[in-house]
Amino acid sequence: MRKIIAVFIIIVLTIFAVPMTISSVFRLTENKAEPIADGDAITAGSFSQPFSISVWNTETNKVENIEFEEYITGVLAGEMPPTYSIEALKAQAVAARSFILSKAEDYFSGKIPEQHHGAMICTDPGHCKAWNKLSSAKKTWDIRYANDYENKIKSAVSLTSGEYMTYDNKVVKAYFYAMSSGRTENVKDVWGVALPYLKSVSSREDIGSDGFESMFTIEKDAFIQRLKAQRPNIEISDIYSMVSGIKRTEGGGVDKIKIGNEEFSGTEIRKIFDLRSTNFDVEYKNNKVTFRVKGYGHGVGMSQNGANVLAESGMKYDEILKHYYSGVSIVNLYKKG
Ligand SMILES: [Zn+2]
Repeated sequence: MRKIIAVFIIIVLTIFAVPMTISSVFRLTENKAEPIADGDAITAGSFSQPFSISVWNTETNKVENIEFEEYITGVLAGEMPPTYSIEALKAQAVAARSFILSKAEDYFSGKIPEQHHGAMICTDPGHCKAWNKLSSAKKTWDIRYANDYENKIKSAVSLTSGEYMTYDNKVVKAYFYAMSSGRTENVKDVWGVALPYLKSVSSREDIGSDGFESMFTIEKDAFIQRLKAQRPNIEISDIYSMVSGIKRTEGGGVDKIKIGNEEFSGTEIRKIFDLRSTNFDVEYKNNKVTFRVKGYGHGVGMSQNGANVLAESGMKYDEILKHYYSGVSIVNLYKKG
């Protein structure tokens, strides 16, 4: 299998790398030489420390090689408030490691998205994960607590060094987001592909948290205009009964919504009106349309706020992870000794 992949890579490089400079080809092969032990998948205990991953930095527009554990501290600094409990930060470190390793697996199997410019991952939060160098993040924190936060993030990473999640011995695509609407979403209901460990589970700890509910109000004409931009044939004859049916997912998000003569998915509506989640209700009053929204984010996998509430109630990081990711195991990437 490795031979087949090697041949495939040579063909791909021959086809696409011709216009590239010699140095960038070397950079690619140099990264390619990073350890993948037996077989083509990432397996527990197969990596020697330290190892580096290649990252397309969207700020510097460069591929950088960064030591993996150091990279995880940057993801923590970029993705979770340092005020959160240590067990929530540890859960986040393991989830981030799993997520990034799942991207590395894509890379090793030759699936390299254009946005990565030949690297394993990128620092675009909309595509991979946000990343903030710990030293830069520190400058944005309250100076009175900055050292404590830095130490907390470093401990969360070192106390879980190398730990990531698997299901059926495969790396878990550990999606996470800010706050659920009370339940998490089945991944199939959001992105159409089922994964056994990304099932809808309770996250009632989120209910009533700061920022749990948000509102978005828009004038009727602007509302119709935005919908028309996506569906030019939409007709809304009676604005009072414009929304004639909402079907919801098991997680509570809007699966389908009928507006006028057109049907939209909740994800489409979320995008069109820039809503915090797909869990919304719609109201029409005084010529204005109002969305009342619960939660923040796509709802698949771990709720960061929920993880923090569970951590504050005494739950350990591994229990938090096993709550949000059904049936997973936590294993270690690094060779022992
Ligand atoms: Zn990316």
